[in-house]
Amino acid sequence: MSDVTAFIAGLPKAELHVHHVGSASPRIVAELAARHPDSKVPKDPATLADFFTFRDFAHFIEVYLAVVDLIRDADDVRLLTYEIARDMARQNIRYAELTVTPFSSTRRGIPDVAFVEAIEDARKGAETELGVSLRWCFDIPGEAGLESAEETTRIALDLQPDSLVSFGLGGPEIGVPRPQFKPYFDRAIAAGLHSVPHAGETTGPQTIWDALTELRAERIGHGTSSTQDPKLLQFLAEHRIPLEVCPTSNIATRAVATLDEHPIREMVAAGVLVTVNSDDPPMFGTDLNKEYAVAARLLDLDAVGVAGLAKNAVEASFLDTAGKAKLTAEINAYTAATTA
Ligand SMILES: [Zn+2]
Repeated sequence: MSDVTAFIAGLPKAELHVHHVGSASPRIVAELAARHPDSKVPKDPATLADFFTFRDFAHFIEVYLAVVDLIRDADDVRLLTYEIARDMARQNIRYAELTVTPFSSTRRGIPDVAFVEAIEDARKGAETELGVSLRWCFDIPGEAGLESAEETTRIALDLQPDSLVSFGLGGPEIGVPRPQFKPYFDRAIAAGLHSVPHAGETTGPQTIWDALTELRAERIGHGTSSTQDPKLLQFLAEHRIPLEVCPTSNIATRAVATLDEHPIREMVAAGVLVTVNSDDPPMFGTDLNKEYAVAARLLDLDAVGVAGLAKNAVEASFLDTAGKAKLTAEINAYTAATTA
């Protein structure tokens, strides 16, 4: 293990772009599959590990849908959420804004109240037992259309748990224009939620402009194509609008051809606040520590530089002032002790 890799492993971190179902590791999937023996997911650990080995984007979707099929009741939701926090604790992730898609569960017959109670139960357990603070971003699965937008907004506003901090939009961008979701974002923002849509992952910079002007985005999920538009980069830097960069995911989905061509360097050079994230970590064969190692290599960072990335995530988070100060102090204390 290199010095920087070891430093990253112990570094207290915040994760801002990571999906609920997309965080189901083989260990968690094996537990869910044991609860539902009729599922198509392989049962023995070796075959399951093979099933999880990333091949291409079509295979990722297959794995994702197989996991969705395993989340059938509130107990599944609770187990998934708590075990994700356990995987986070192992990586020294102290705070995460987890993107949750309630529509995927309510359309499968899990009542909205039971769904929210399950994630809240898991959150409280994770906080006291694992030392991981979870907050929620409820996101619209764009491919499911305006019906899903209405349902997601309704759940967010009717049930608004205290730990719900933001409102998102995921799914494919091509053929799913951002502006149609403006009325839903307007309602969510009026209710006090922060706007964090995915934009510019698989489409050009105009999608990011749409997210900024129509959906009033405060952070951008991915924003990979922002480097194609110098005015946009300047806007993001001036207005301190962070990008949630997920390098390995961008390669897996072919948004970027190779890691060495990843635009993270241009983003940083333009003065944009860049955060490093894992998106759907086990399904892309990664985790947050690996993403930090990738970023350290691409940006040529030493331990202090990596600690700077971790502090970017704290700054870009929706933690309150005291929460930000506490986590930043932990990062500084660790860095001082480790690099002394
Ligand atoms: Zn994402």
